[in-house]
Amino acid sequence: MRVTTFQELQDVCLKNNKKIYEVMMSSEAESGENTEYHTRLQATQSLLAMQRAIKSGLKSKEPSISGMSGGDCAKLQKHYRKNQSLFTPTLRKIMTYALATSEENVRMGTIVACPTAGSCGIVPSVIISYAQDNKISQDELINALITAGVIGKIVAQKLSLAGAVGGCQAECGVASAMASGALTQMRGGNVIQVINSVGLALKNILGLTCDPVCGLVEIPCIKRNAFLAIHAVTASELAMADIVSVIPTDEVVDAMAQTAQLMSPLLKESAKGGLAKTKTAIELEKGVNG
Ligand code: SF4
Repeated sequence: MRVTTFQELQDVCLKNNKKIYEVMMSSEAESGENTEYHTRLQATQSLLAMQRAIKSGLKSKEPSISGMSGGDCAKLQKHYRKNQSLFTPTLRKIMTYALATSEENVRMGTIVACPTAGSCGIVPSVIISYAQDNKISQDELINALITAGVIGKIVAQKLSLAGAVGGCQAECGVASAMASGALTQMRGGNVIQVINSVGLALKNILGLTCDPVCGLVEIPCIKRNAFLAIHAVTASELAMADIVSVIPTDEVVDAMAQTAQLMSPLLKESAKGGLAKTKTAIELEKGVNG
């Protein structure tokens, strides 16, 4: 992909009056990296896997293999049946789908890394829930997923999207930015609004640590997916109101890369600090190892 920054992406889109996914598809086709047909085919296959993960996650109450997690999606669905939620039906669906996909991931069912397995619930829950509730066509949904991919790809040019390198800001944080940009596009936002939603989402999660209990992608990962899916909606909502990220999105990405370098290795997937070394986590570790 020749576009390497969000500013370049914005300029190309505005100059050619094209959407982000169109720029990406023609750029990859021109460079011989991928034909438009294959880009859409890959996105369609990913989308189908996401839908499968959600469907299966919604039905299961099974615990994870470690036994440390599972059943929260079922609890949330039960809670929503009581109609006592403050959330709109779409927001409820987003939270539910985020937990469904993440729990499905830790049960080793259908795994949809987006951009990583740990952050798998964020993009699918946001774009699929919105599409279902707003009569968005399959084509538009695929376009949104391609845009999410472009966002992740640009960030990944400056920072590895792995908790071990960048902390959870690089996994769930980037997933939230991808979801926010895709959602903003589906809502009819222009490219400036899409890119601002990315910057707004990333700004708010700088420094998010990766400290998984027992080194497993369960605690805090699963619930974090639910939180950061809603976080993506917040960023989109701000951007749709033409609220901008005063720090341009590219500079936010630079700050994120610098933050990753400054973070202690103890907080980057080593399970040697933060939540992973709390008293309860140490007790859980004994149980899991036992
Ligand atoms: S806490 Fe770490 S392992 Fe869990 S989702 Fe975030 S980056 Fe991945």
